[in-house]
Amino acid sequence: MVLTEKDTLSTLEADRIIGHITSEKPGPTMVFFGGIHGNEQAGVLALEKVFNKFHRGERTLESGSVIAIRGNLPALTRKQRFLKHDLNRLWGRDRLGQVLEKPRDQRSAEENELAVLYRGVHQLLEQYSPPFYFIDLHTTSSQTLPFITVNDSIINRKFSELFPVPVILGIEEYLEGPLLSYINELGYLALGFESGQHDDPRAISNAEDFIWLALSYSGAVSWTPEQDDQFQRLKNAAFGDHHFYEIFYRHKLPEVHSFKMEDGFWSFQPLPKGTLLATEKGVPVEMEKKGILFMPLYQKQGEEGFFLIRRTPRWALRLSSRLRKWNFHKALSALPGVNWEDEDRDRLVVNLHVTRFLSKPFFHLLGYRSRQPDKAHLILSNREHKARNGEYMNTGWFSGD
Ligand SMILES: [Zn+2]
Repeated sequence: MVLTEKDTLSTLEADRIIGHITSEKPGPTMVFFGGIHGNEQAGVLALEKVFNKFHRGERTLESGSVIAIRGNLPALTRKQRFLKHDLNRLWGRDRLGQVLEKPRDQRSAEENELAVLYRGVHQLLEQYSPPFYFIDLHTTSSQTLPFITVNDSIINRKFSELFPVPVILGIEEYLEGPLLSYINELGYLALGFESGQHDDPRAISNAEDFIWLALSYSGAVSWTPEQDDQFQRLKNAAFGDHHFYEIFYRHKLPEVHSFKMEDGFWSFQPLPKGTLLATEKGVPVEMEKKGILFMPLYQKQGEEGFFLIRRTPRWALRLSSRLRKWNFHKALSALPGVNWEDEDRDRLVVNLHVTRFLSKPFFHLLGYRSRQPDKAHLILSNREHKARNGEYMNTGWFSGD
C-alpha cells in the first residue's frame, strides 16, 4: 500500500478530505462523496470506516486511487440538510456559472461549498487518470430499501446492475441541478447510493458494504470472501429487489411547511388507489391510482413530498441498449416536428402538436430525458452522446454490448 500526497487535493482543505490513497499500480479513480446533505452522516461514517481499514493495513489498494470527500461542511457540523441552499440543487450550468462569478463574500454557505467542490472535482479530473467513478452517498428521511439512483446512460446502468439493490433511472428529469447530473454530463460514470433512513445504524453498514463492492467491481481492491458476505448482506437489506424502476410522478412542494406526510410510509411501498398519503394546506393528498411510493418526505427541508415509481421491464432495458448502440437517435431528427436544438446534437426540440404519436417513454428508450418548457414542446437531452464509454471499455464489467 502506498500513500502519496497529491497537489490536487491542496484546494480541498484537510477537513474536507475523509481520506485518499493511491496505489503504485495504475487503475481506476474512485471518488466518493458523503454529506452533500448535512443531516445525512451515514455516508461520511462509512467512508471513515473504509479508510480506517486501509490505514490499519487490513485491506490493500490493488490499483488506482480512492478519494473520499465531505460535502457540505457547515451543514454537516449542524446536522442540517443545508443552511441556505440545497447543495445538491446548485449544479445546473446557469446556476453554477452565476455562483462562480460571485465574489466569495457575497456567496451563501452552500454557494461557497459549491465553488470549492467544483474546483476540487475539476482538479481531480486533470490530475488523476481514467476510468473515473463518482459515487455520492445519501440517506432518506423515510425507511427504505437501500437503492441506487442514476442518470440513464449505459455506463451508469451497467455498473449499477452489478449491485443487488433496486436502481432508479432518470431521476434527473425531476431534479434541478444535482451534483451527479453535472458529472454525468461531463461523460463520467456517476452513481448515487441511498443507504437507508438517516438515523438507522444499518444505513452506515449498508453504505460500507456498498463502498467495498464498488471498489471491488472497479478493480481497485481484489474480491475476497468478505465481499461475498457484503453482497449477501446488501441483497438481504434490499429484500432481493434488483429491478430497475422509473419515476413517473413527482409531488413538488411550493412550500414544504404546509405539507405533512401521514406516518408510517416507506420507499418502495406498493399502495392501492385512494390511499391517504398526506395533507397539504389542509387538503388530503391521495393516490390517484395504484402505484409504488418512493421517498416520502419526513423532514422539514426538501422540495419533493414524494415520488411514484414503476418497474421498467427487462425487455425495455435491452431494447433501449440496442437502439442506443445502433445510434438510432440519429434518425430521429428526420421525423416531422423533431429538430436539433444545438449544433452539438445533444438536445432535441420536439413539437408536441406534430409528434403526438411519439410518447415520452419512446424517447426514454433512446436515452433521452425531457423537460417541458411549455405545453407545445419537449426539450430532450441525451446522456449517451457525451458518455466516455471508451474509457470504461477495459473494465471487467463493461463489455460494450
Ligand atoms: Zn441526500
